[in-house]
Amino acid sequence: MKTIGLLGGMSWESTAEYYRLLNELTRDELGGLHSAKCVLYSVDFAEVEHLQSEGRWVEAGELLASAARSVEAAGADLLLICTNTMHKVADQVQAAVQIPLLHLADTTAAAVQAAGVRRVGLLGTAFTMEQDFYRGRLASHGLDVLVPDTAGRAAVHRIIYEELCLGVIRDESRAAYQAVIGELVAGGAEGVILGCTEIELLIHPEHSPVPVFPTTRLHAAAAVTAALG
Ligand code: GLU
Repeated sequence: MKTIGLLGGMSWESTAEYYRLLNELTRDELGGLHSAKCVLYSVDFAEVEHLQSEGRWVEAGELLASAARSVEAAGADLLLICTNTMHKVADQVQAAVQIPLLHLADTTAAAVQAAGVRRVGLLGTAFTMEQDFYRGRLASHGLDVLVPDTAGRAAVHRIIYEELCLGVIRDESRAAYQAVIGELVAGGAEGVILGCTEIELLIHPEHSPVPVFPTTRLHAAAAVTAALG
């Protein structure tokens, strides 16, 4: 079994899910007392969020690159950045280590394609919904990516940082997300990517009229597949 390296803490609410899923999926695959071999470097998310909001992405990339080197030195064979947003600096992180980075947008695109979906809605932070590092990577796999309108993007972003990353799950916020999903579906989305690792704490398949693609679960499953080879 290979050792899975995790850059987590962004936020720890979703990193805890990664840890649980890696172990559950490994147990499901191998049975008995098997669990995932992993190395986690968990950052202080306040530091990362500060750099994000000031647009200091190179410094944020340096912070994660340094963490990635630690994870590699601790014996990891592959690397996950446990947040969609911080894939903005994925190239900088990959350049810092020899071990392969399992890119979350590639994992997600593969699942969307496997479901026969081509036109897909994307929910995530404003960075993920509005910038090219994630949308463009999805589009390079042949997907047609739809994002919410300005008000919808603002609501989705606010709920991530003010609630989900703090472990706050509110029915009103679920309703707000469902309204945004409804608009994406009305616009032609055949599925919706939960493109922020905390969203699947709020939105489950039964909350959407079309298939949802939970990025934390998909990323963890791809990592276990890679680790068990
Ligand atoms: N976990 C979130 C994501 O997947 C947002 C937190 C962050 O900005 O890293 O994008």
